[in-house]
Amino acid sequence: MEQTDIRSLPLAQLKEEVTAMGEKPFRAGQVYDWLHVKLAENYGEMTNLSRDFREKMADRYPLMPLRLVREQTSRLDGTKKFLFALPDDCLVESVWMRYKHGNSVCISSQVGCRMGCGFCASALDGLERNLAPAEMLDQVYRIQRLTGERVHNVVVMGSGEPLDNYENLLVFLRMLTDEHGLHISQRNVTVSTCGIVPMIYELAKEKLQITLALSLHAADDEKRRRLMPIANRYSIVQLTKACRHYFAETGRRLTFEYSLVEGFNDTKQDAQKLIALAGPLGCHVNLIPVNPVRERNFVQPKKDAVEAFKNKLEKSKINVTIRREMGRDIDGACGQLRRRYLETARKGEREE
Ligand code: SAH
Repeated sequence: MEQTDIRSLPLAQLKEEVTAMGEKPFRAGQVYDWLHVKLAENYGEMTNLSRDFREKMADRYPLMPLRLVREQTSRLDGTKKFLFALPDDCLVESVWMRYKHGNSVCISSQVGCRMGCGFCASALDGLERNLAPAEMLDQVYRIQRLTGERVHNVVVMGSGEPLDNYENLLVFLRMLTDEHGLHISQRNVTVSTCGIVPMIYELAKEKLQITLALSLHAADDEKRRRLMPIANRYSIVQLTKACRHYFAETGRRLTFEYSLVEGFNDTKQDAQKLIALAGPLGCHVNLIPVNPVRERNFVQPKKDAVEAFKNKLEKSKINVTIRREMGRDIDGACGQLRRRYLETARKGEREE
């Protein structure tokens, strides 16, 4: 049987476990605080608990923190990229970025991904497995400990499709924003999806105050299908209907992500189509000059072309930003660090 990581249990469930072990319920609060506020990595740190109780816990619920395999710091902007090993030796990567408004961590939600988007390095080898809530939380926790600085924003934009790991994602979101844990404001959390329409309706029911980002990348079905297999399943009409519903239920405006690929989706007509979609929904548009992945031959438009695209949207009163490229020198794009590492390991070469 698979071992449950105790850090995947919300406080109410932890209380049940602890009382079943014959302990007072308030002990659960203490353990929860050690795990999710003080970010303890072992029971030895939990000095206000009896040795006996700690031993029982260690026996029953061994802690399995992520192991740091690799850390790279960008010389360009200080962005840090972390490669972590999970208890079963699967690898995930996470990114730490310092912005004026605080520190952001970008986490992975799955090992690999099965969505198969054409420009994305995470999709190249398909899906390995889902991450447990604790494994998503721990990316934030380990990074906060490693950097020694509080994490203010979390974006679920690393490897994986969060809405393809829905139950675990929800537990993760609740625990991350729980007042008894790190208590990151829901408004400071963004979940990015390739657009699994039924799951957008599910998520809307939760009425969370997080930001939902939709990876649109093309404003007509035919083009979108050439980039993203999911577009064969759900049309843009179905997607925009889901977005309208999400906004109506949560009051939160969505963000459209749009990776600009030279000569493919960066023309005036593309901008017009994007305006027609984003305008009525009041969406924020985040333009991402496509990050070239070695295995794919997508080309980034020139800076002027990106600016021109942005200006066109702005003229139509669309709220638009160009995503600053962070950590370009350290395999910044999703899945690239893990991929490089695995390739090197496969070749049996030594690192560095
Ligand atoms: N599965 C989620 C999260 C994935 S990554 C989703 O699809 O939204 C976060 C964003 O980066 C997505 O918009 C994704 O399409 C984009 N992305 C992935 N690889 C990229 C690349 N090489 N260049 C630019 N954007 C990329």
